[in-house]
Parts: sequence; structure tokens; C-alpha cells
Amino acid sequence: MREPLVVGNWKLQGSLVSVEALLGDLLSATPVVGVEIAVCPTYVHLGRAITMCGRSLLAVGAQDCSYVQSGAYTGEVSPAMLAEIGCHWVILGHSERRQYQGESDALIAAKLAAAVEADLSPIVCVGETREQREAGSAQAIVSAQLEGALKGQANLDRVVIAYEPVWAIGTGLTATPEQAQQMQAFIRGCLMDISGVDATATRILYGGSVKAGNAASLFVQPDIDGALVGGAALIAADFLAIINAAAA
Ligand code: PEP
Repeated sequence: MREPLVVGNWKLQGSLVSVEALLGDLLSATPVVGVEIAVCPTYVHLGRAITMCGRSLLAVGAQDCSYVQSGAYTGEVSPAMLAEIGCHWVILGHSERRQYQGESDALIAAKLAAAVEADLSPIVCVGETREQREAGSAQAIVSAQLEGALKGQANLDRVVIAYEPVWAIGTGLTATPEQAQQMQAFIRGCLMDISGVDATATRILYGGSVKAGNAASLFVQPDIDGALVGGAALIAADFLAIINAAAA
């Protein structure tokens, strides 16, 4: 039995004041049982978020991390530092980082290894572009991303995968529940092939314009174990509605 997981990716949004207000609204809501919840603010807002979340059911994650733990790497933030301040999760390989920072599968694999070494739980993002889907290569792209990122990672215990079709992120175009289910079942098969371990316990999230109105239809699919949520995670009522849909 896989416990649903709903993660808010706050991206490069907000100020200390708005982050405190959003967390305040989330923390004052009735706790939802049976769903794991996390929010991922920017690095500079992490400390405040961790202090506010304290021992609540709301965990905190980072949106990225370095591939090294320390050294002369100006501007980097290491997984060990994130773990030390109380981060539980880290998002890796988000399509925006692949696109704007040119992150390769090899770099994502190195970050994953460093994150696991620091006892962070990585959420590894994969997904095809609209052109790749239209060309019929969506599965080939996703399996290559998985293979590249998980290379040498024999233990998937801490790892969560997020299937995020690039054409659905921030566009309002959600994959249909059937499209998402088909790809997520395919991903589960790939995980077994790549790692050689049983991936029935591995959580696979869907991400891409998840909203209060479409969450339930996605979550009833057998291989959709929760969501990575961007825009809708910035509005407490919408994020809470998605969390409640995952608990239903
Ligand atoms: C994301 O950035 O991971 C995401 C899924 O964004 P949105 O929900 O806004 O499409």
C-alpha cells in the first residue's frame, strides 16, 4: 500500500511575508490523515518554513541541491546542509532546471547519489515535451531520463518519481488521467528493469496543472500516488483541496 504524497513546488515565488502567510493558512487547516504533505520553498525561505512547520505533518523540501557535499563550489547548497537544517525532501531534475540550467541526466544522477548519501528523500522529475509526445517518442524519452538519473542507484527506498509532461507544466493543459496512468505504469516497469528491485512500493507522482477540479480523477488511477503541484500550491484553499482529494 503506497501512502499518497502531495508536494507543493513554490518555485521562485513569494516573499518572507507571503511564505509565512501561506504556511500559516496551511498549518491552521484541519490535519488530513493518510496523506504525506510537503512544501518546497526557495532556499532562502527554507529555514523559516522548517521552523514554522516544526513537528506538524507538513514536511519541507528544497527545489534542488548540489552534487557535492562541500568544497570550493560558489553558490551551491549541499544535500548535507539541507538535511542538517531539517529538510526532508529535495526535488531533482525538474524540467525548468533541465531547460534553463541545462541539467543533464548525468548531473541529476550525481545529485541523486549525494542526496541519498545525506539521507534526503529525492523526488526525481521526468517527462517529455509536446514535440516529443507528438513524435511518438514520449516513452523512449522518459525511460532514458530514468535510466540516466537512476544509474547506479540500487536502492529506491527513499526515491519518489514525478512524471511531469513538460507540455502540462504551468500551461493549464493536464494530461488526461488515462495518459498519465499509462505513462506511470510504464515508469513502474522501467524502475523494475533499471534497478532490478521490486518497484511496487515506489511512489510515482503526477505533475502538470494539477488543480482542485482535476485532482480526484487523477488520484483514482492505480499508478498515480499523489501529485507535484506548482501554481495551485500557492493558494492554500486549492492546495488543501488537492490534499483532501488524495486522502479520499
Ligand atoms: C511543477 O512546476 O512541478 C508543476 C507541476 O507546475 P504546475 O502545477 O503549475 O503545472
